[in-house]
Amino acid sequence: MKRLIVVSNRVTPGDESNASAGGLAVAMLAALKKRGGLWFGWNGEICQSRDTDPEVMKTGNLTFATIPLPEQDIELYYNGYANRSLWPLFHYRTDLTLFDHRFFESYLRVNSLFTAKLAPLLKEDNLIWVHDYHLIPMGQYLRDAGITQPMGFFLHTPFPAMEILLTLPNHEYIVKSLCAYDLVGFQSASDLRAFHDYIVHEAGGEILEDGVVRAFGRTLIARVFAISIDTKTIAQQSVRAAHTKAIDRLTESLDERVLVIGVDRLDYSKGLAQRFRAFERLLENYPENRNKVVFLQIAPPSRTDVPEYTDIRHELETLAGNINGHFAEFDWMPIRYLNKGYTMQRLAGFYRASRVGLVTPLRDGMNLVAKEFVAAQNPTDPGVLVLSRFAGAAQELGEALIVNPFDVDDLSDAMQRAITMPLEERRERWGAMMETLTKNDISTWRDNFLTELERAPATLEGG
Ligand code: UDP
Repeated sequence: MKRLIVVSNRVTPGDESNASAGGLAVAMLAALKKRGGLWFGWNGEICQSRDTDPEVMKTGNLTFATIPLPEQDIELYYNGYANRSLWPLFHYRTDLTLFDHRFFESYLRVNSLFTAKLAPLLKEDNLIWVHDYHLIPMGQYLRDAGITQPMGFFLHTPFPAMEILLTLPNHEYIVKSLCAYDLVGFQSASDLRAFHDYIVHEAGGEILEDGVVRAFGRTLIARVFAISIDTKTIAQQSVRAAHTKAIDRLTESLDERVLVIGVDRLDYSKGLAQRFRAFERLLENYPENRNKVVFLQIAPPSRTDVPEYTDIRHELETLAGNINGHFAEFDWMPIRYLNKGYTMQRLAGFYRASRVGLVTPLRDGMNLVAKEFVAAQNPTDPGVLVLSRFAGAAQELGEALIVNPFDVDDLSDAMQRAITMPLEERRERWGAMMETLTKNDISTWRDNFLTELERAPATLEGG
């Protein structure tokens, strides 16, 4: 079995027992331990010089190698190109996308720095797996450094439609760099279609059988690998959480009212303003919900150094304040809006205590909260998932109430349908979704990607 090299923007050395380790980190750690391997990336720290050697930490057959980044690059590469150019663009927000040649130069500089620091640590029998939009150029840089080992890339965000991507000044460079990998994984069929569209109509490339793509003088495999969650663990956590004091207090505070929940990083891609307006519309159009329904929105702030995130935060504070001011009674607050994060264990209990889960991003690569909400439900009395058609998860969880998150009326009608849905229908819909998530969990996703990556040289030779 080949040794695995995982590369991601941020690395937090630790193991599965670390309470803040998410599903992805746990899945990667399991694969790294099974095969032996190395996890490489930025440690989140600042340095003065680019010449610092990676800090290496070994535990058993697993090694973490991390580097700090110069302050200027954190601003231009991370807050700049990654979070103000690629992130908004890949989420179809051309209105929020900022182009600045200094961002792009820093993006290349950091990718080249990552390559220079990683290359000496690589060995013949390695399998390299690079994650996400921060590190697209790394594949080409590694090739230029003479690395011939199988190299895969997984994009955790959406891949935008061609017409959107064409607005990015360096679009050709970005797609050409993707083509330097042997295997490129996307979250959903629509992302893969968008990639194919660019390859055929903009790059003059070809789509062959078995996911093989030929473009820019390179042959690669491009496929869908829908990321998932640790379904079984979350289901167990939710049962345990149901018997905790926190959930008792939550239930008591609801006083028999129905709980509707949303859990999202505070990000403009999550459709929170539309969701708040739809909840207001629900209270207007279906007044029987007044004093009967509570909407709990958990929204931990993220990327607070980026101005667009401050703007969305202000917008939501105003909306929540207005709606509560208008509808609240002395014993009922319609929206509980919380700018803080909770552990997975806590969230599992919140999900299970909720009748409705609102997952209504305007655009999302997958959205793991949608899957977690389903996994955490009580099988005998499950809640209803209201899910945006523009989340990757909608392509697997068709039994949710699928909505257009831009359409506030559609959204509020779906909320009403979810609140009033009979038990039998809730069970049927939940059962079908749970079956999907039991089959396709995070380890299926990881193993499918690694199997395909290991097979890539043979597939490409035959292609
Ligand atoms: N999450 C968390 N605590 C919180 C809010 C979110 O642990 O207070 C987790 C959530 O359980 C999920 C992840 O953060 O696993 C968010 O992933 P998702 O794909 O939904 O969206 P992203 O933030 O990656 O855009």
